[in-house]
Parts: sequence; structure tokens; C-alpha cells
Amino acid sequence: MNDRTRLIHSGRDRDPFTGASSIPIYQVSTFDQRDPEHLGAYDYARSDNPTREALEQTIAVLEGGARGLAFASGMAATSSVLLLFQPGDHLVVGKDCYGGTYRILTTVFKRWQLDVTFVDSTDPENVRRAITPSTRALFVESPANPLLQVTDLRAMAEIARERNLMAITDNTFMTPYLQRPLELGFDVVVHSATKFLGGHSDLIAGLAVTREEGLGRRLRAIQNSFGAILGPQDSWLVLRGIKTLAVRLEAQQQAAQQIACWLLRRPEIRRVLYPGLEGHAGHDVHARQARGGGAVISFELSDGPAAVAFLKRVKLPLVAVSLGGVESILSYPATMSHAAMPREERLARGITDGLVRLSVGLESADDLIADLDDALNTLRSDV
Ligand SMILES: *Cc1c(COP(=O)(O)O)cnc(C)c1O
Repeated sequence: MNDRTRLIHSGRDRDPFTGASSIPIYQVSTFDQRDPEHLGAYDYARSDNPTREALEQTIAVLEGGARGLAFASGMAATSSVLLLFQPGDHLVVGKDCYGGTYRILTTVFKRWQLDVTFVDSTDPENVRRAITPSTRALFVESPANPLLQVTDLRAMAEIARERNLMAITDNTFMTPYLQRPLELGFDVVVHSATKFLGGHSDLIAGLAVTREEGLGRRLRAIQNSFGAILGPQDSWLVLRGIKTLAVRLEAQQQAAQQIACWLLRRPEIRRVLYPGLEGHAGHDVHARQARGGGAVISFELSDGPAAVAFLKRVKLPLVAVSLGGVESILSYPATMSHAAMPREERLARGITDGLVRLSVGLESADDLIADLDDALNTLRSDV
């Protein structure tokens, strides 16, 4: 089945009881048990809710996994996956992982004695070298945030298989429409469904999918015990968002490619980071594992004051954290996603004061370019 068809008809595409065109929002906590000796399929909505279950089946099919699970946020999904490990276990994690993942690993899970080594995973040798006898898992993201560095997912899956490690990836930036890590050999995929899957900047949600049923059952036991589940209303909204994922991403990705090429020619822009550009360091690896560059571009202005002036002048995009919405969103890593990182450390990672990140929405690319052009031109007249 074509991917666009799967987005509409995978999982439960209609209500089995009424034929309704979507699974209703089961706004309930409990289910009547007629026969108390033989409980029904649903008993309590933390364990199972039909609306959440429809979303869980859909994401499992889309990622090509055995089991999907929906959580209250992307961080709840990641944290629940991390609860699979024990004190003393060691994880090798890509150093450019999502900031919240870095924070929970270095605070909460550190107190629970989960041992982590952060490495530059763009070179698989760094990952290999960091493995110790206590290593249980690899956790990488590709492309990473905000510099969009690409990690070779096949190479990671290969290392994990050789060394008997669990391979985990956060696929938020790509979604299963553009990249399917389980098919490349990963064991677990996590998502912030807040971003492209929800797609409308109107909810917070997380998903996890396991390649195998056994691991899926262990993660489901954690979901049920820990309890960070997604509610029925938000499950329904994510299901609705997923139906238009293909058309949204195709249009957003096409506009992103056009804007990235335009930015390359602007003298005010020092560098443009976008995996869809041939000059991008990870372009070839990315092209082998994903179906396009996605809809997020980072680019660098000359310095902090130039970036701040630019952000103040742009009219169409929101200036905000987050990404993946129908509206374009410009983020400023120095004061937003990476504000908690010491400046020296941030600069050492290449996240300069001039760097901004653009999540391209569904506006016309020409209108977005005209808006960026105006902001850059006023910048020039100031100097
Ligand atoms: C936003 C984001 C998260 C966290 O998701 P929440 O839904 O905000 O908890 C995790 N990973 C990536 C790559 C993200 O962009």
C-alpha cells in the first residue's frame, strides 16, 4: 500500500460500531464489567482507552513496528523508554540529542544511577569506542537539533546488533512518512507528536513504537504502571493530524528546499544547514535513509545582535519554541532551546549567537521568502 493511503487507512480507520468516519473520543475512566469473573477488553482507561488504542495501532503500522504506545508528551514517551533500564546500566547517547532528553538523563536518571556517555554520533567510531561491558543501549537522533547533523542509522543498528544493545531513536524531525528507523534495524522509535504528527501547534503528545512484541509488552507494562498516558481528546487530535501528514510534509519540505536554496545566495547568511542541500555534511547518508530533507532549516547570521534584529522584524513566522506546525516558526537556540547550556559549551558545539532555526509551515514559500527578504534588507540598511 502506498504511504499516502496508509496514512488514511492504517490502524482503525472507522468506528466498528457505527461506521463513523473516525474513532469517537471515549471520554471515560472506567468500563462496566458485566461478568466480574471475566473482565472485558477494557477495564480502566489508564490501561486501555479505545481512542488512544486507535492512535497506538496507527503509529505502530506507520513505523512498521509490533506495538505503539501513546504518552502525555514526547518527554513522557522518552522517560518511559528510559525506565526499561536499571541502575548501573550504561547508555551511549548522541550529544546533540533533544535538550529535554539531555536534561532528564543528567538529572533524574543520573540520580537513579543510569550511566550515560554523550558522543558525536555522526562518526560511528565514536559510538563504538564509548561502549563498555555495562552498555545496554544506543540513543541517537537524525537529523539532530539545531544543527541538523546526520547520523548513519544503518551503521548504528549494525553496532547495536553486533554488541547486543537496544537501539533507540527519536524520529520527531522526520516522522514515519520520511524515515522509518525500525526498518533499518532499530528497536524503539520515540516521537514528540506535538510537532509534525499533530501538526497544528495545538497539543502536547508523545509516541513510542517497538519493533518486537516482547519489548512492546515490557514498555506497555511501564506505560500502565507509570501512568504518563495520552488522554482521549489529544489522541483523537493526533489521529486527525496524521491523516494530512503526507500532504503537509510534502508541501512544507518543498518550501523548505526552496527557502534553503534562497538563503544560500544571501550575503547576510553565513551558513545554511539543511540535509536536503547537496553541500550539507550529512547529505549523502541522509538521502540513503530518509525520503527528503524535511521542513526544518537552521541558518546563521553574522552575530547575536543581527539575529535578534532579524527575529524582531520578521512578520509571518511565529518567533517561538517548537516546530512542525502549519504556521512557520522561527526559534532562537541561544535564548530558547539551549539557554540552559553554558555559553562556552554552546559555542563549542557550533550553536552560535547568530544561529536561528526555521520550521517551514504551509504558507506560500514566495510569501515567506518576501518576508525574510524584507527583514534581511532592513538589517542591511541599519549597518
Ligand atoms: C519537542 C521534542 C521533544 C519533546 O517532546 P514534548 O512533546 O515537548 O515533550 C523530543 N524530541 C524532539 C526532537 C523534540 O523536538
